Amino acid sequence: MKRTILLISIFIFPISLFAQEKKQPNIILMIGDGMGLSQITAGMYSNGNKTALEEFTFIGLSKTHSHNSLVTDSAASGTAMASGVKTLNGVIGINIKNQKVKSILEISKERGYQTGLIATSSIVHATPASFYAKVLSRKEYQKIALQMSESVVDYFIGGGQKHFNNRSDNRNLLKEMKDYDIVSSLSRFDKSEAAKIGLFTNRDEPNRISDGTRIPLKDAVSSVLNQLDQDKKPFFLMVEGSQIDWGGHANEMSYVLSEYNDFNDAIQTVLDYTKNMPNTLIIVTADHETGGLSIPKGKIKNFRVEGTFSTIGHTATMVPVFTKGPSAEIFSGIYDNTSIFKKMLKVVNE
Ligand SMILES: [Zn+2]
Repeated sequence: MKRTILLISIFIFPISLFAQEKKQPNIILMIGDGMGLSQITAGMYSNGNKTALEEFTFIGLSKTHSHNSLVTDSAASGTAMASGVKTLNGVIGINIKNQKVKSILEISKERGYQTGLIATSSIVHATPASFYAKVLSRKEYQKIALQMSESVVDYFIGGGQKHFNNRSDNRNLLKEMKDYDIVSSLSRFDKSEAAKIGLFTNRDEPNRISDGTRIPLKDAVSSVLNQLDQDKKPFFLMVEGSQIDWGGHANEMSYVLSEYNDFNDAIQTVLDYTKNMPNTLIIVTADHETGGLSIPKGKIKNFRVEGTFSTIGHTATMVPVFTKGPSAEIFSGIYDNTSIFKKMLKVVNE
């Protein structure tokens, strides 16, 4: 009997040591706000019939409806993906029983992950806010900023600085965020050796990419990945192509296409960067479709597309989910957007 126990412990001890050393998978969740299948199709054809999404191995479809509406907004769908609950349109991080819910970013932090958020909108906008804030209205930007300043986000890049340092309570959150190095450029972001780093790309909402003044999303992604890579810990990173949605609301095809292109470049950068990081799950999806875009005509000669919008709002159409890396296969099929959280949680808990 004693000998059996001794033998078992000899065999189990090195295995448990190995298990502790094994790193949990990195997760990179990329959300194209308002990026339905028509936006992807239009972006692909107008980019010479190519998209980075063709490199993905598994594809699923996500049902985007919120608790109270067939057509969701970004707050409810962001909360569904971040925390796994269907809530009311406009609500962030709070379920229909009025309880605050933890996000996958917060849960992964508890499991020893490093965390990052990048958006081409302000960092307090509904989608990025869904990963750290708990508010009854997405428009409570100052409250969201305060929650951001106290969050477990290690690295962030996005706009919206005014909500931190030009506030009705006269607080300057930038001064209060002593654990962060708040930098003013990407090169300073790269050089910083602080444990937490933030870069505001704009006082308010960042410009559209076609204006030529905005940092390309791929550059922001490279800088954050460089910092995360140096930390030698597993990481959770959310990247949002925020303004594909704004192009849809404006019913402006060129706006949709340029923002899709910026997002597509960022996806390609993630794919290239993670070639030697095989333990990385990449998920690309959307929170909903915007504009009711269809492509009734175009030209085959140079793959020129002509789109027609059917609304200035969002639509209820399902959105695709593209995955690559460890556990990518569990994202195939048709499921609610809340399952994206549940599937990521499974990966984090491995
Ligand atoms: Zn929208």
